[in-house]
Amino acid sequence: MSEPDLARNLETLDGYLARFRDTGIRNRIAGADRDGGGGVFQTTSPVDESLICDVARSDAGDVDAAARAAAAAFPAWRDMPATERRRILIDVAEAIEARAEEIALCECWDTGQTLRFMSKAALRGAENFRYFAGQVTSARDGQNLPSPTLVNITTRTPIGPVGVITPWNTPFMLSTWKIAPALAAGCTVVHKPAEASPLTARLLVEIAEEAGLPPGVLNVVNGYGEDAGRALTEHPAIKAIAFVGESRTGSLITKQGADTLKRVHLELGGKNPVIVFDDADLERALDAVIFMIYSINGERCTSSSRLLVQDTIKEDFEARLVERVNNIKVGHPLDPATEVGPLVTREHFDKVTGYFDIARADGATIAAGGGRMGEEGFFVKPTLFTDATNDMRCAREEIFGPVLTSIPFGTEEEALRIANDTDYGLTGYVWTNDLTRALRVTDRLEAGMIWVNSENVRHLPTPFGGVKASGMGRDGGDWSFEFYMEQKHIGFATGAHKIMRLGAG
Ligand code: NAD
Repeated sequence: MSEPDLARNLETLDGYLARFRDTGIRNRIAGADRDGGGGVFQTTSPVDESLICDVARSDAGDVDAAARAAAAAFPAWRDMPATERRRILIDVAEAIEARAEEIALCECWDTGQTLRFMSKAALRGAENFRYFAGQVTSARDGQNLPSPTLVNITTRTPIGPVGVITPWNTPFMLSTWKIAPALAAGCTVVHKPAEASPLTARLLVEIAEEAGLPPGVLNVVNGYGEDAGRALTEHPAIKAIAFVGESRTGSLITKQGADTLKRVHLELGGKNPVIVFDDADLERALDAVIFMIYSINGERCTSSSRLLVQDTIKEDFEARLVERVNNIKVGHPLDPATEVGPLVTREHFDKVTGYFDIARADGATIAAGGGRMGEEGFFVKPTLFTDATNDMRCAREEIFGPVLTSIPFGTEEEALRIANDTDYGLTGYVWTNDLTRALRVTDRLEAGMIWVNSENVRHLPTPFGGVKASGMGRDGGDWSFEFYMEQKHIGFATGAHKIMRLGAG
C-alpha cells in the first residue's frame, strides 16, 4: 500500500468531485443542461457506499427532447466537410488526454475499477477518437462496379441520429468506442450511460463540446434502462442502437426496437475459455490466465473466466495459480499498487459472492478466495474454483467478477467440446506451441475473437464482437462504419440502351 499516493489521489479527486456535489449530473441536450422529467437518483461509490451526487432520472419526454436535438443537428454535421469533422475529433482526443487524470480518478471512484487500469482506459478513449478521426475522410468511399450499359457506383451515407447505450464496467472507454466512430461517420448521438456509473459520460460530452463539437451532435440522457433506455430504443427519430451490456438486455433491446425497425449492434456477455495445452509456454500462459480474469476486477466481457487445463499439467498449474491468486493486491482503487478494487454495486457484489455457495453446492472446490474482503465497500477476494465440470453453474453463467473456474481436459477433442459447450461466443484463448493444433483449434472454436499464445490485445482496425449469445455485429476499423452508415448504389447510364416500351403499342 502506498499511502502517500493514495492520500494525494483522494485529495485530487475531492477537487474533481466538488462540482458534481454542487450541481449533480444533469442531462445534456442540444448543448444545454436539463433536469430529468423523472426527478433524480443517487450514485454512490463502491469503495465506502458514500453518496457521490444526484443524477437526472430521465423519462420518455427527456429522451424525445434529446432525439429531436440529435435530429436537428444531423444535417449540418453530416454535411460538414470531412476535414473539419476530422479536426474536431482530433481536438476531442487532445482534450481527453488533457483531462485524463480527472477522467481516471472519477471513473475509479464511481465504478471501483483501479487506477492501474483506468489511467490507461482514459487514454484509450482518446486513442479511439484519434483513430476514427483518421478514418473520416475515407468513410464515404465506395466502389465502381461497371455493367455493360451503366456505371454503377456505391457510396456510403451516415444512417442518421443513433442511440448509444453503455454498461458500467469500463464506461468511459466503451462509450468512446461507440461514439467516436458514430461521429466520424457523420451521425449524431444520444448516449444513455449506465445508471451505476454516470460521471465520465458527463465529462465526455463536456470535453467534446469544449473542443468544438457543435451542440446537439452528442446528447446525454441519464437514467434507468427500463425507462430512459427503453424510450431511446423505441424512438422513431433514432435510426440505430449500439448497445453494450448483458445478453438478456440485448434481447430486450432487439424486441423494443422492432416496431421502428431499428438497426441494432449488440456487444454482450461472455463465458470465455482459455485452453492451456501441456506443450505451451506455461510461465506466459499463467501470466495471461491471471491477467485475463483478475484485471479490471474481472468485470470484463472478454475475461477468460473458464480455464481449460490439460490433465497432464493440471496439478502443477493450479498450484501455481493458487499461489499467485492469493497474492493479488485487493484494495482501494485509487492506490496505484492495487490490482483488484471493489465491485461496482451492492447488487453486483451480492451476485458475485452468491456464486461461492452455488459452486460449493455443485461440488466445486474453492481453492483460493471465496469470501468478501473487509467490512466496508464491495471488496471480494480473487477466487479460484477447481474440480469443476462444465455443467456447473459456475462454468455456465457469466459471473463478471474476479472469479475463475478451472476445468481439466484430456484430449484436444475434449477441450474443443468443453470450450464450445456454452451459450456464449465472445473470445477464446489458446496456449500451445504446436502450430497445426493451433490452426485446427482456432478453426473450430466458436468465438468472434481468438488469441493464440497471447492475452487480449486490442488492435483498432480489427473486428470486435461475438457469436451466439455474445452478440451481433462487429466494431473496429471499417466494420464500425458498416453499422453507422448506409450503402447507396447509383447507376449512371453510359448510353441510350434500349428501355422496354410498355403501353407504346
Ligand atoms: P446491462 O445490460 O444491465 O445494462 C447495460 C445498459 O443497458 C445500461 O445503460 C442499462 O441502463 C441499459 N438497459 C437496461 N435495460 C434496458 C432496456 N430494457 N432497454 C434499453 N436499455 C436498457 O449490463 P451491465 O450490467 O451494465 O453490464 C455488464 C454486462 O455488459 C456484462 O454482461 C458484460 O459481459 C457486458 N459487456 C459486454 C461487452 C462486449 O463488448 N461484448 C463489453 C462490456 C460489457
